[in-house]
This record gives sequence, C-alpha cells and structure tokens, in this order.
Amino acid sequence: QAKSLGRNTLCFFDPNMQATVTANATVGSDLRVALNEEQFVVHYQPQVDRVGVITGVEALVRWQHPQRGLIFPADFIPVAEDTGLILPLGQWVLEKSCEQLAAWADRPQTSNLSIAVNVSVRQFRHPDFVDMVMAAITRTGIRPHRLKLELTESLLADRMEITIDKMGMLKALGVTLSLDDFGVGYSSLSVLKRLPLDQLKIDKGFVADVLTDPNDAAISRAIIALAQSLSLQVVAEGVETQEQRDFLAYQGCDQFQGHLFAKPLPIEALDALLQNPTAGMLVLA
Ligand code: C2E
Ligand code: MG
Ligand code: MG
Ligand code: MG
Repeated sequence: QAKSLGRNTLCFFDPNMQATVTANATVGSDLRVALNEEQFVVHYQPQVDRVGVITGVEALVRWQHPQRGLIFPADFIPVAEDTGLILPLGQWVLEKSCEQLAAWADRPQTSNLSIAVNVSVRQFRHPDFVDMVMAAITRTGIRPHRLKLELTESLLADRMEITIDKMGMLKALGVTLSLDDFGVGYSSLSVLKRLPLDQLKIDKGFVADVLTDPNDAAISRAIIALAQSLSLQVVAEGVETQEQRDFLAYQGCDQFQGHLFAKPLPIEALDALLQNPTAGMLVLA
C-alpha cells in the first residue's frame, strides 16, 4: 500500500513499531484464550507491620503460559488494558482474592489477613465496578474491610468529582482503599485530603535509592509525614534490605512489603509460610 503512494511519498513505516503491534496482537488473542483456559495464577506477597507480623498480602497476577512459561504483568497488563481484557481479568483476580479471604476466615491465624487487589483505571471507571465488588463480597461472605483496593494516582488526572463519588461508594461497602505507587503522579495536597483513602503506598522507585539518593530520602520522608498528617496508613513497597526497612521505619512508615520479607508466592507456599511463621524473620500475630 505504501508503495502505491509513489516514490516521492514519505513513508512512516517503522519495522520496530510493526513488530510491537504484531507482538501485541498475538498477546491479545492469546490473552483471550488464556482467560478461557484459566492460565492465570495469583501470587501473594506478604506485607508486614513494624514488628514483622504479616498483616496481609498483595495479589499479583501472573500468566502461566503453556509454551512461554511464567509471564509477569509488565508483559501483558498493558495489552490487557488496551484490549479491554483487563475487565474480565481484573474481575477474575478480585473474585479469586475474595475466595481466598473466605478460605482464611475460619482459621484464627489467618482470619485477620487482608488482600490488596490492584485495580486498573479502566476497571474502576466501568459503570458496574462498585456492583461487581459488592457482588464478590456478598458471594464469598467476607468481611469487606479485609479487601483492600489499590488505586493509582492516574485516576486523579481527570473526572475528579466522579472519582471521589465512586471511592465514597466503595468506602460505603466497607472496603479499604489504598493509593498505589504514590509519589510518581501528580496528586496535590488539596486533592489528596478530599479522597476517602485509608492508605498510601510509597512507590518502590523511591525505596530503591532511599539510602543513597538524598532526593528519594526526602520524598519518602515527605510522603510518610503527609500520610501521618492526613491520618493515613503508609506502606513501603520494594523493600529489599534491612537498612531500607530501618530508615523507613525510623521515619514512621507503618508497613513494609518487599523481597527482604518475601517474594510474591504461590498460594501453597504462602500457606506454608503462614503455618510456620517462625521460619525466617516473619512473625504472625
Ligand atoms: P505494583 O502494584 O506496584 O506491585 C508491586 C510490584 O513490585 C510487583 O511487581 C512486585 O512483585 C514487585 N516487588 C515487590 N517487592 C519487590 C522488591 O523487593 N524488589 C523489586 N524489585 N520488586 C518488588 P509485579 O508482580 O511484576 O507487578 C507489576 C505491576 O503489575 C504491579 O505493580 C501492578 O501495577 C500490576 N499488576 C499486577 N497484578 C495486577 C492485577 O491483578 N491487576 C492489575 N490491574 N494490575 C496488576
Ligand atoms: Mg499494587
Ligand atoms: Mg505499587
Ligand atoms: Mg510500583
């Protein structure tokens, strides 16, 4: 087709771009199959409090591809968002997480754990989102505050009033609301104080260099102070060393998540950890 435009026509064909488009199309149609054939798995990464007690986990989806092996979210979530498949996929993670909370509800060692579920902007904006969350809670019979929804700052870029209303509806259901990857976006103080949030998560990008980069140290300190002044809980993600944990704890951070404590685990490994909390540095309430 480009050829028929003639020799003197500028052609914007970029082979790299084409490769990306083709790869995404393949991932897109594979994703549809994957959903039908239940090739997704949820891994759970522990979150610990200041004394090392596991208080909950974050649900992180992986794609168990029959040929390509385990695929991480960075390689399929963006495509799922573009194709709209994030809606059924996100719903599946939500349902799965509520089922897990229900399974934990009977045992005293696990009945107080929370599960944090990542919610993409597209999912949050869907007109049925609040109803679907309510249906999942009702179906599984869980106590709603144990379900934590992780929203991102990009939600705050526009349609603020609608967003605040919807967050209010979710709070009315009793769920816990967290703002993920905090600090990378553009939430102003005045916006933040209007949101019915329970928690801020410091992005792992700041945590990574918190000991070596004075700017990241200052940002982390500021986020913790901000959270405290708004009576929000603050969680640091991507904590890999004891020194990072200690610095953040000294600043007043309430909870920690990262490889220092545990990687995201398949449910069997997590259950084993929860049953044998004295292994490693983790203590269970
Ligand atoms: P996120 O929500 O910010 O999740 C934290 C990410 O940091 C996870 O990456 C986790 O494995 C990783 N992480 C945790 N501790 C450490 C650490 O100590 N060091 C390092 N380097 N990384 C750590 P993951 O699992 O690859 O997920 C990436 C992103 O994909 C998530 O970032 C989230 O935005 C998205 N995602 C994952 N699951 C879902 C889902 O079910 N729905 C939606 N919409 N997004 C999801
Ligand atoms: Mg998250
Ligand atoms: Mg995060
Ligand atoms: Mg992050």
